[in-house]
Amino acid sequence: MKQRVEQLRERLQHHNLNALLVSSLTNIRYLFGFSGSNAIALVASDLSSFITDRRYTLQASQQVHGAEIIIAKKDLYAELKKIVSPEAGYKIGVEAMHLSLKDFTQLKKTLDSVKLVASERLVEQIAAVKDAQEIENIRQAAAICTAVFNEILPLIKTGISELDISAEISYRAARRGSERDPFEPIVASGVRSALPHGMASRKKIAAGDLVILDFGATMNGYAADFTRTVIVGEASPEQQKMADAVAAALGAAEHAAKPGVVGKELDGVARSVLAEKGLGEYFQHSLGHGLGLNVHELPRIGERSQDVLAARNVVALEPGVYLPEVGGVRIEDDFVVGSDGAENLTPVSREVVCVGQA
Ligand code: ZN
Ligand code: ZN
Repeated sequence: MKQRVEQLRERLQHHNLNALLVSSLTNIRYLFGFSGSNAIALVASDLSSFITDRRYTLQASQQVHGAEIIIAKKDLYAELKKIVSPEAGYKIGVEAMHLSLKDFTQLKKTLDSVKLVASERLVEQIAAVKDAQEIENIRQAAAICTAVFNEILPLIKTGISELDISAEISYRAARRGSERDPFEPIVASGVRSALPHGMASRKKIAAGDLVILDFGATMNGYAADFTRTVIVGEASPEQQKMADAVAAALGAAEHAAKPGVVGKELDGVARSVLAEKGLGEYFQHSLGHGLGLNVHELPRIGERSQDVLAARNVVALEPGVYLPEVGGVRIEDDFVVGSDGAENLTPVSREVVCVGQA
């Protein structure tokens, strides 16, 4: 973790900032190890200060490494004035994507001699490259996903509701050691599978339905994210064609995922496979995203992404096609990017599985 803060200090210098006010709890966890729900931190070239409230006195003393711990009596931001250097021209970066307008306004008032600079993704860029322990956490979370998938297949049959399947997924993931669902499981069947983010509903699964199952697991804070699509009964030729095309798109993207590849290039690899099969217009979201303490993080892998893949990125790749009034197919695997190619952490067959048959 010390190394993470050192990397951040280099970035501060590069961006001409004296300090960064870290207000994202995920970034605080990444830098200092704290997993509570109320904290801020200030990182400068000569100091790292972590501020939380009295509920977290014990937890902070156990978890926080590499920073001076300050327990605020009232407001976290009020404590900042005591540690910020009042010298003229002092520039503090604030996390534009994580600081509320209310806190920003208060900060401007409290630190009136300091220049606040909106900054983005300073910590996130460092966090995109994982160390061995982080990769191990995601590997374990991914293994829970694949085990849960195999376990729930026999439960998917006509008459059971999407919400029932969603509950089974969450329960079984927890039983296998997942700390929490990193996002609400998506269970979308029949025409609802054409909704890329169809939350589980009361709809009952019916014969002939495509069912998209997209869910995750969490290990030591790190998320895995996994999707398969199954068919209740026999696949129609159209459903089979969709499933084969999406599997081919993911295979091509997996093959192309290497350090140095730009996010939009990788996205384009999958997109062109689907276009060749006449399904290009039905793939309307990004190909993928980084995984870590967040279920969506850097690098971004979409049509406009300039992010460059690096060794030890962990990414989820998830091509899909969604035909309105027909249904959708999505397949998602998690990969560690390595110099020899991508290692698949969720190696489950991508062939469409037919379920619910006697
Ligand atoms: Zn997913
Ligand atoms: Zn995903």
